[in-house]
Amino acid sequence: MPETNAVIVGAGPNGLVAAITLATAGWNVLVLEASPRPGGGTRSEELTLPGVVHDVCSAIHPLGLASPALRSLPLDDHGLEWLHPDVPLAHPLDGGGAALLHRSVAATADGLGADGAAYRKLIEPFVRSGFDLTDGLLSPLTVPPKHPIELARYGVTGIQPATRVARRRFATDEANGLFAGLAAHSMMSLGSLSTAGYGMMLGGLGHLVGWPMARGGSQSIADSLVGVLESLGGSVVCDAPVTSLDELPPARAVLLDLTPRQVLAVAGENLPDRYARRLGRYRYGPGVFKLDLALDGPIPWTNPDVAKAATVHIGGTMPEIAAAEDDVLRGRHPERPFVLLAQPTLFDDSRAPSGVHTAWAYCHVPNGSTADMTEPIESQIERFAPGFRDLVVARHTMATGAMEAHNANYVGGDINGGAADLRQFVARPTLGLHPWVTPADGLYLCSSSTPPGGGVHGMCGWHAANEVLRRQPLPG
Ligand SMILES: Cc1cc2nc3c(=O)[nH]c(=O)nc-3n(C[C@H](O)[C@H](O)[C@H](O)COP(=O)(O)OP(=O)(O)OC[C@H]3O[C@@H](n4cnc5c(N)ncnc54)[C@H](O)[C@@H]3O)c2cc1C
Repeated sequence: MPETNAVIVGAGPNGLVAAITLATAGWNVLVLEASPRPGGGTRSEELTLPGVVHDVCSAIHPLGLASPALRSLPLDDHGLEWLHPDVPLAHPLDGGGAALLHRSVAATADGLGADGAAYRKLIEPFVRSGFDLTDGLLSPLTVPPKHPIELARYGVTGIQPATRVARRRFATDEANGLFAGLAAHSMMSLGSLSTAGYGMMLGGLGHLVGWPMARGGSQSIADSLVGVLESLGGSVVCDAPVTSLDELPPARAVLLDLTPRQVLAVAGENLPDRYARRLGRYRYGPGVFKLDLALDGPIPWTNPDVAKAATVHIGGTMPEIAAAEDDVLRGRHPERPFVLLAQPTLFDDSRAPSGVHTAWAYCHVPNGSTADMTEPIESQIERFAPGFRDLVVARHTMATGAMEAHNANYVGGDINGGAADLRQFVARPTLGLHPWVTPADGLYLCSSSTPPGGGVHGMCGWHAANEVLRRQPLPG
């Protein structure tokens, strides 16, 4: 048996990309995964009915397409096919209106009426900067930065609260609501610094690369990553939870696709006290309540254009979405939560038998919440699609405890590996130029608790593996 050069704990997208990056450089790598299947947040399962596939966690992947790490891999040779809906995103409003984010900035602006020009002005520079800007945003900040003009132009507006940017630029409910929904992916108060940046980035990516999903379910992202890894000689062992570094085979490097709380549980004894205390102070963000539905027809949206989009943001106007997110941050459960919904079977007939449709939905809740948000989520959908409830044939729900049981990285239901506010954007999980590197010899962090944070992009794993290659090159 060849000697193992690196062990990666956790087969999420970051762990798998870290493994692939090392295997590409000739390392012999082993990935140990606690769950029965690889993929972490990109797993799919028959949650409601036999033969009906649901994405348990991630469903929509603009970051996957934009990521320099994933772009560089031959994932399509290993079965991954991105499916693009006609429209990346729809945002319905009371009274039958809706804002639509099209691939084209011009078409989107046309639909926003009086706010069309303001939307163009906000988003067009991001789209024009293309991968120069997104590659910079997904990479560690260098001094000087690689594309200073693009970054500065984005940063001046992006650092601001979404509420302020929208108030100054938009007058219509359509543009305000659209921007609020985009910014609310941050899981922060929309009055907080940097939330405008989330809105600009996700909106800009809708134009730049689209908001695609993976044919057959997000599991095929994980499976294609495993395929690439195995083609390079690496291997993944599932049903292998790691409780201590002592259990691991000897290796030059160990990379943990874990969040700080688990890092302390698994490796705390190997870490200097000062660093361990800093990890202990790391903050987790709100959790999510997840609802998966099997339906015996497509969702009957009042505005039929909403059916052209795979992703639908449900929450109404900017003030309403901002209030719902503020409730969550104050430890309350909003009566009218902001709901993120995907309707994959409208664009992918491989996920369910003919005539059966699925809905993937979640809303934000306080960290550790035990509340059942099925009724508030369904009321929000019904509000924009009367008669939707009559179509539900099966439900599957996951409160924060079930989320964490599914994947130990979702501490208290936090799907981003830690709060993504400005402070933890800079110090993720600790302040330093190389946050993937721990003070323990050969021990690295590669989860979404390191830059650039949550989402299926694999960039945390890519940066961590590149640190390993730089610091510990294989002899010869
Ligand atoms: C409901 C929901 C919706 C989401 N929607 C999207 C979306 O649409 N688009 C998007 O880009 N992102 C989305 N995300 C976020 C995305 O899934 C995560 O940001 C991403 O998966 C993080 O990748 P990771 O590799 O850091 O960690 P994870 O994917 O969480 O992987 C960590 C892995 O480590 C394993 N593990 C944990 N502890 C141990 C241990 N002790 N020993 C061995 N293995 C262990 C876990 O089982 C898991 O497989 C969503 C997440 C959720 C939950």
